[in-house]
Amino acid sequence: MTGHPAPLSETQTADAGLRARAQRVVPGGMWGHLNAARLPEGYPQFFASAEGCRVRDVDGREYIDFMCSWGPILLGHRHPEVEAAAMAQAARGDCLNGPGEVMVELAEDFVALVPHADWAMFQKNGSDATTSCVTIARAHTGRRKVLVARGSYHGALPWCSPSVVGITSEDRAHLLHFEYNDVESLRAAVDQAGQDVAAVLVTAFRHDMGRDLELPTREFAQAARAACVRAGAALIIDEVRAGLRLDVRGSWEALGVRPDLSAWSKAIANGHALAAVTGNDQFREAASRVFVTGSFWCGAVAMAAARATLRIARETDVPGHIRAMGLRLREGLALLANRNGVAIRQSGPPQMPLMLFDADPEARKGRVFCSTALRHGAFFHPQHNMFLSAAHRSADIDEALEAASHGFRAVRELGG
Ligand code: PMP
Repeated sequence: MTGHPAPLSETQTADAGLRARAQRVVPGGMWGHLNAARLPEGYPQFFASAEGCRVRDVDGREYIDFMCSWGPILLGHRHPEVEAAAMAQAARGDCLNGPGEVMVELAEDFVALVPHADWAMFQKNGSDATTSCVTIARAHTGRRKVLVARGSYHGALPWCSPSVVGITSEDRAHLLHFEYNDVESLRAAVDQAGQDVAAVLVTAFRHDMGRDLELPTREFAQAARAACVRAGAALIIDEVRAGLRLDVRGSWEALGVRPDLSAWSKAIANGHALAAVTGNDQFREAASRVFVTGSFWCGAVAMAAARATLRIARETDVPGHIRAMGLRLREGLALLANRNGVAIRQSGPPQMPLMLFDADPEARKGRVFCSTALRHGAFFHPQHNMFLSAAHRSADIDEALEAASHGFRAVRELGG
């Protein structure tokens, strides 16, 4: 065996052809969570186009989309107003020697929209934003320890990657862990950090892959806030995945708990590459001292897209609409599962739902369900929380439920 990939067959699908070509020129054919080995059988790896709540793969098959590009699509793919704003900015310039006027306008928008925010800074990816928050917290406090919930995802950089491959223990020497929603374990971690605690970093809700989703309890949120006040540390909410979907003002606003710093990305520019850190006045001075930057962080097109996205999200109650659509999906799935005598668990906010099968530790049932539903035109995920968008209408949900009914039948036939 030379380890070289097999030659291309001429009878394969466009997707298979691209995978074979990618094997030659991209290590492993694809990186991270999009590696083909992780996809349910039959799932395409390559996509050609998308509009509203429909995505099309490179073989021309169309699906009702419940992944929304893993979060960035909030208003629907290629939303006309967002794209018009982006194109108008693109006609003037995107990557210039410095930011455009739009950066200040967007920071003003965030400050007006998000109650805890006295200022905003912009980056590109969610990991940029979570890392910037941690850096600002350390600069402000002069301390090192950052407390995170075990299993929470905050990005793929060495300090927070879920993988240990290529990463040293020193990269995360100053991370301490607690259990999400467990006040005692949070207090124990704060005690362990002692005088060295810089921040508590916590996702908007518990959305770890492959386990039931959990909303934060009020008690936990308040305890996190109080612990940070007592310790003089920053409370950082990682809004990268949930931001704008639960509450446009911030996901913990309804709990009456405001963070010092928040990390945003994904949905804020409806598919354009942008991240943001928002913070309060206590952290303004430290935020002005840290050196954080990137070649593309001033890109004006994504900022123009974000301005349109924030405006629409605010004016049209996007969280309310996607919640209603998510509830319709949830109720329909429950009914179908019941009809087929298949036991499922649905968890999380309806806007970002997860459906797991009982007695399915390897997600075999979940994968069969998804593969079958995919053949009937619905793009679900067996283990990761899914996403609704403002482009989903009742008729789309009902059509997806029809596809899901085939999935449940296939699971019933598996038995067990
Ligand atoms: N935090 C959370 C909660 C996320 O879901 C993600 C991405 N899935 C990140 C941080 C990292 O964002 P990015 O992949 O854009 O760097």
